Formats: sequence, structure tokens, C-alpha cells
Amino acid sequence: MALIIAKFGGSSLADAEHFKKVYDIVKSNPDRRYVIPSAPGKRFDGDTKVTDMLYDCYAKASEGEDFAEDFQKITDRFDSIIDGLGLDLDLTPEYQKIRLAFENAAGRDYAASRGEYLNGMILAYYLGYDFVDAAKCVRFNENGSFNSDFTIEKTAEHLSHHFCGVIPGFYGKMPNDTIKTFSRGGSDITGSLVARGVNADLYENWTDVNGFLVADPRIVRNPSRIETITYKELRELSYMGATVLHEDAIFPVHQAGIPINIRNTNDPADPGTMIVRKTPEQKAAHHVTGIAGKKGFSIISIEKAMMNSGSGFVRRLLTALEELDIPFEHLPSGIDTMSIVVDSAYVQGREQQVIDTITKAVEADHVSVDNHLGLIAVVGRGMIRAAGTAARVFAAVARQNINLRMIDQGSSELNIIIGVDEASFDDAVRAIYTEFFHKEA
Ligand code: ASP
Repeated sequence: MALIIAKFGGSSLADAEHFKKVYDIVKSNPDRRYVIPSAPGKRFDGDTKVTDMLYDCYAKASEGEDFAEDFQKITDRFDSIIDGLGLDLDLTPEYQKIRLAFENAAGRDYAASRGEYLNGMILAYYLGYDFVDAAKCVRFNENGSFNSDFTIEKTAEHLSHHFCGVIPGFYGKMPNDTIKTFSRGGSDITGSLVARGVNADLYENWTDVNGFLVADPRIVRNPSRIETITYKELRELSYMGATVLHEDAIFPVHQAGIPINIRNTNDPADPGTMIVRKTPEQKAAHHVTGIAGKKGFSIISIEKAMMNSGSGFVRRLLTALEELDIPFEHLPSGIDTMSIVVDSAYVQGREQQVIDTITKAVEADHVSVDNHLGLIAVVGRGMIRAAGTAARVFAAVARQNINLRMIDQGSSELNIIIGVDEASFDDAVRAIYTEFFHKEA
């Protein structure tokens, strides 16, 4: 018998109708023994997630304002789920405890965590599974960082007493017993940790899309779904803005080689995207697995004759950047030129200071700063063996008369990153998509 961890996001548990779908999914496979819920998410455009309602309500409580009405709206959301499912469950005593804790300044994290906590109680009752408070297993260190070893060990120990369980996502406990949450979307991390703790065969992450898409659907019409992606490829794509899964959710399962399957609660027949450590001989359906990108970068270009002849140039350059407090993203270099790609937020409005500091630090002949750069990452394990992938990327972009302002190929040969003017960004993504996904289809 295999063991599956099923994590359901907020949109999958937003109301009673969604709870019913979750019930059917969980019950359709007896291997789905541990379930991780998020708090109820948005039911429609313009709706508010329960987590946000809790933050707002707690803000009022901590300012000493009357928060009764806000609190009522939150408990109404949970009660409407209970009523919609026809459950004989009364959470009033829990609501009273939470209300009191709000009055006694139990903390913002505690407040936010109650969305997952209460949703977990309802789901456990509905499924007939044990409710296991995440505070018993998930642990943070004194300095607020996450204690992975402790958590994995405690989870294994704790869940060995529960054949089936619901463990709320998003939060855990500090050594002083207060509640702390992960960053937003952190239930994904809880799911990953539980999967690791019980050494699951599969970590299913149920959401409202059919997995990762090859490109952003706001730019490319009907992009294909990625069937299989490696953790490393996913890391590259997430860094460049593809979001479905919390970034930190990858590491716990990655270490143990447990695959993640992104699935759609509203379309359970669809196989979704599989995220794996390795594919057989890194086999890929296409040379390119995915295309992701972000706008809002700047290029600092440095020219210096005989740049490579002296030593210490890069050290001095990086020291200057450190003094300016500017982290860099990429550092492509030429013979007598070097470019630094940085987030525009760090340079815009202080260009002259950046130019002067760098010019002085490395005795440059010329330094300039150009804003409005978009970076596009073309990622694929299939590139390693295929000659000419880079040429195809460049040619596809050139055919649209788009000027490449930067090129960077990672040493892993897993990605090619190009920089284009923000104004040409969407056209460049579409050109690359057409090149690799229409021609290879
Ligand atoms: N409910 C939390 C949030 O909205 C955590 C999560 O959904 O994973 O960020």
C-alpha cells in the first residue's frame, strides 16, 4: 500500500461545494491518509481570503478597536461550510477561545493560523480522520528560522499514532510555545514536511489549475501543460516568476526524492504536473520545459580597456555593489566589458551615485545604467544534449526584430536567460513559445 499526502489549497476549500469535491478525491484512494488543508480562500472575484480577514480582524483587536463584527464574519464563513455539509459540529467553544486570545494579544501569527486550524477541524470531522494540531509537530527555532530536523522527526513520531489524519497547514510552534506561521502560501511547506516525515510515496498538491503551464497564459494563448518537470527546472522557473507552489516547499521532499503532483480539485481526472528528482535519462518531451520571465530589471554596463589583465577587478566591483547595498541577479561578462543585472528597485532614482561609485572603485572607462529590462528564462533539461537550442532562441527573437540586451547561459545548461526591453517582453515570450512548442508539437 502506497502512502499519499494530499494538500488542498484555499480555493479548494473555499466553501461547502469545494469540501464535497475534496471529500470525493480523498475517499477515492485509500492511500490518501494524511491531508493538509489551507484556510478557506476566495469564493469569487473580489471575495476575501479568511487569512486576510483574520489579519484585519486581529489588527483591530490589537489597536483596542471593536472587532466583534469582523470576527462574526469569520465565524460565519466556517459555519456556512459546516451547515452546507450538514455536519453536526459546533465550533462555538473554539470561537470563544480564539476571541479571548485576540483580546489578550496572542499575536498576529496566532491569529492568521486559526484559518487553517478551524478548517482542519471541519475537514477532519467531515472525512472521519483524526485532527492533528500542527503545533505538535511543526517547529521553529528561537531566531524564527524553521527547524526542519525537529519537525520531520516529530511528525514521524506523532503520525505513527494516527492511521489517517488532517494536519492544518501554514503554522507551527516556537520554543516558547507561541504560534508562528510560514510566509504566505506556506501550507505547501507543511505538506512537504509531512510527506518527508512519514516518508510518503507521493505528495499531491491540489489547487485550482491543472499544473504548471509551459508559459504564462496571460501572454501566450492556451499554453500546454508541463507533464513532468524536475525539481531543478522548477527552481529555475519559480525564481523567474512561475508560481503555483511555495518555493520553500520543494526542499524537504527533494532531499528524499518524493515526487510532487500538482492537481486540480475542479478537474480531478486531469493528471496535472509531476515534479520529480530525475526522469529516465532526463528524458524530456521537448527541448524546452518552460518559459518564465520578469520585468523590472536594470543593467549596469562597465567598460574598461584590458579589464582582464589585472587581478581583483571583480572583487572591487562586488565590494562597490555591497557598499551600495545592491544585490545582483546576473553578471554576464565580455572581453573588456561586464554587465550587472539588478532589480531596478535598487538603482532607479540613484543612477548617478551608482555610476560614480563603480567608476571610482574599478577605474572604469565608462559606466552606464539602463532601466526597463525584462528577463526571460528558457528552461529545459532537454537542452543539455540538444545542440543549437540557444541559436533557436536567439533566431526566434531576432525574427521579431527584438534586440537582445543580455544573454546568460547557466553552467548547468539547464537554462538560457535573455534580457530584452520591457516593451518587447511579451512578443519575445510568444516568439520563443512558438519556436519550441508549435514546431515540435
Ligand atoms: N492561508 C495562508 C495564506 O493565505 C497559507 C496558505 O494558504 O498556504 O497565505
